[in-house]
Amino acid sequence: MDLKEHIRSIPDFPKPGILFYDISTLLAEPAAWKATVERLAEAIEPYRPALLVGIESRGFLTAAPLALHLGMGFAMVRKKNKLPGKTIKHTYDLEYGTDTIEIQADAVEPGQRVVILDDLLATGGTAAAAVHLLRSVGAEVAAAAFIIELSFLNGRDKLDLPVHTLISYD
Ligand code: 5GP
Repeated sequence: MDLKEHIRSIPDFPKPGILFYDISTLLAEPAAWKATVERLAEAIEPYRPALLVGIESRGFLTAAPLALHLGMGFAMVRKKNKLPGKTIKHTYDLEYGTDTIEIQADAVEPGQRVVILDDLLATGGTAAAAVHLLRSVGAEVAAAAFIIELSFLNGRDKLDLPVHTLISYD
């Protein structure tokens, strides 16, 4: 199954000049989505994580079925002020300004092995921030995995850990 056939590219979203890779068409096709989950599972299983961590919001779509498939826990990294209870925050630089992500303080146990998931790796800024946040709560981040990689942006160079992707655009 060629997963690329199920990814739609949409020009000028969210801004003029940006080509957006849309996974809605992949999610809408059960056989293609099943193959996506199975291929990510194959990449992740050898790391034996206790927990999969999804980055808001398409990372949730990616990580949650995978966690169920592999019999692992699932936790959320969200944009600020979305999670109840005590949270741990990390603020990181964007091209213009900053952004803050957070995780519930009790989501990960110190020393717990986790794998981070998102739908797409672009510049790597979002995933690098998630790695930083998880390490700050004591997690051992074993790997990161994505459905899509925009390899011309060299995002994996920002991540000092194994990176797995299923589809690459260059
Ligand atoms: P980065 O921080 O690596 O530059 O951007 C990755 C984040 O932006 C991910 O959370 C991803 O969901 C989102 N993103 C950026 N570009 C695209 C795109 O073309 N398609 C999709 N589906 N997500 C994108």
